[in-house]
Amino acid sequence: TERELLDLTALVAERVKRWRRSLRNHHIGWDETTPPVWVRAVRAEWEELIDILLDNAGKYSEPGSEITVRLEAGERNVRLIVRDTGEGIPKEELPRVFERFYRAKRTRSRHRNGSGLGLSIARQIVEAHEGTIRIDSQEGEGTEVSVSIPISQ
Ligand code: ATP
Repeated sequence: TERELLDLTALVAERVKRWRRSLRNHHIGWDETTPPVWVRAVRAEWEELIDILLDNAGKYSEPGSEITVRLEAGERNVRLIVRDTGEGIPKEELPRVFERFYRAKRTRSRHRNGSGLGLSIARQIVEAHEGTIRIDSQEGEGTEVSVSIPISQ
């Protein structure tokens, strides 16, 4: 697993295209005019990370709802944001979602399958790239996952 110089914009655009085909009932918003952003990253790991976030956004929101993917380049870092307007995560459970095998109470009763591993893998990938990941969520309103990693100068 070698790092390479990657255009994160192109990679995200390609994954969005793929997820638009499998989440047929959702609408995935993505600005096709997002400028290229170069990072040093392991391609397969970033594909997996984006897949984890889009899979969750799709699983925990209603068909027909909107999922938004954005890439925002700052001076040193680029931020990848995936937001949904789904069921959200109760405040008291939010601190635990990055734990291995943790699944929220409501999730355990409503969505039978799932390992609770996705977000812990996502965090490992992000931290291996000197990045940070955070989740903001409002129960009944939606969830926003935000990943930040250094831009390659
Ligand atoms: P798997 O990794 O097998 O898909 P999972 O989705 O349960 O299982 P994680 O991705 O680690 O595992 O997520 C942990 C828990 O965090 C989920 O079970 C769910 O309760 C909550 N969660 C994650 N993403 C969202 C989201 N977008 N909206 C609401 N809840 C979420």
